[in-house]
Amino acid sequence: MNKEAFIEAIRNAGIVGQGGAGFPSHVKYAASADTLIANGCECEPLLHTDYHIMQHCAVGIGRAMQALGDAVGASRRVLGLKEKHTALLPPLREALKTFGVDLFLLDDFYPAGDEQILVREVTGRSVPPLGIPLQVGAVVTNVGTLADVDAAMQGIPFTDKFLTVTGEAGRPGIIRAPLGTPLTDCLAASGGALPANPVFVLGGPMMGQVVEDLDALSRERVTKTTGGLIVLPSGHPLHINATLKVEVIRRRAASACIQCRYCSDLCPRRLIGHPFETHLVMRAFAVGNELSELGSQVAICCECGACEQYACPMGMSPRRINQVVKAAMRGTSLQYSGPKDIREDVTAMREYRKIPVPRLAARLGLAPYMSLETPWLGELAPSRVDILLRQHIGAPALPVVSAGATVRKGDCIGEVPEGALGARVHASISGKVTAVSDDRISIEGN
Ligand code: SF4
Ligand code: SF4
Repeated sequence: MNKEAFIEAIRNAGIVGQGGAGFPSHVKYAASADTLIANGCECEPLLHTDYHIMQHCAVGIGRAMQALGDAVGASRRVLGLKEKHTALLPPLREALKTFGVDLFLLDDFYPAGDEQILVREVTGRSVPPLGIPLQVGAVVTNVGTLADVDAAMQGIPFTDKFLTVTGEAGRPGIIRAPLGTPLTDCLAASGGALPANPVFVLGGPMMGQVVEDLDALSRERVTKTTGGLIVLPSGHPLHINATLKVEVIRRRAASACIQCRYCSDLCPRRLIGHPFETHLVMRAFAVGNELSELGSQVAICCECGACEQYACPMGMSPRRINQVVKAAMRGTSLQYSGPKDIREDVTAMREYRKIPVPRLAARLGLAPYMSLETPWLGELAPSRVDILLRQHIGAPALPVVSAGATVRKGDCIGEVPEGALGARVHASISGKVTAVSDDRISIEGN
């Protein structure tokens, strides 16, 4: 398959990056790079989705890496994963060597799976602040995305998603669900919630979104970037932290931030040399001066949460503050205009400041769930799906079906708007389209 046909196949299948915000893959893969990195690091505690995919789709990942490596012109092709996966390493190494792919092993630290951290690990190069890996000659793509790239090369569109359901679920495990499946169906397939008043995290405990109750969960759907559903009791520290009011956070910043700068010193982005000092944002925020040159450096923050969930000895919320400042900046003309050089003197401390995942899990109050097994629970067959038209970065897909239409699994139901950045969406079950709205297409199964 030549590059043009490869990119066309990826576009037709609606592939987007599954490890992050859902960047359309046909745009990313159109680039040229000397290094291709498959990201199998899965550094968020409790998630085992990528492990399952690497265990069961190794040959497909290898095929996809070979095609993608040829398409971008990468002379070096590696799959990055944790060295702790001792049982997985020999078969994975064997499966990938026929495709010219080597393993790159990492310690069990957070956030090894942040693509900029992974690029630094593999190539020794730091992506510039506000930059992308391509600027230092690397393309990084998640192993789940690669499994779907392999299917796309065989003409099969992206319609289903693997996810981990864990924590206080009756039967934790890995499931595969059609896109648009209600997350309450995923929960039911995993034995339901054990606590009387559960809360949920969509994604990983560090960067996921907290959903406050079952009613709110019933409105959530599986999307192309859903990787996990974690069940916790109401009042868990992650719940409390995620729902603190901004004014409480500000009062705490003013009264209890001791400016020890641990948040800056352990910031993974700072440790790859970005000129970012989040304790200075804290200082500005405490006195209401965050919409300033000092505050604008939040644009560099990747919201990994290492500062507030691990580094801070005072229980402050620097990540939440950075999110609030970023949102406020969107309504102004303020932009980061500070230095974009890499501070190599700071990177010298990186090796000593990596955050061990078991210790992070203990800090998060997740130690009791770290040893949970997550066996394969099977494929879900929901009676109804609501497929979101925006499951990716860019413009929402434009519906190409109307209510009443009959569709088969894999039919294109949403197209990329002319000239826009976006991704197609496809029917994830066969049945009848029952509703088409601005943000979703609903299908009732046969
Ligand atoms: S680590 Fe906590 S107390 Fe120390 S400067 Fe940062 S926010 Fe303030
Ligand atoms: S969330 Fe905190 S640790 Fe992570 S990049 Fe932002 S400031 Fe740094």
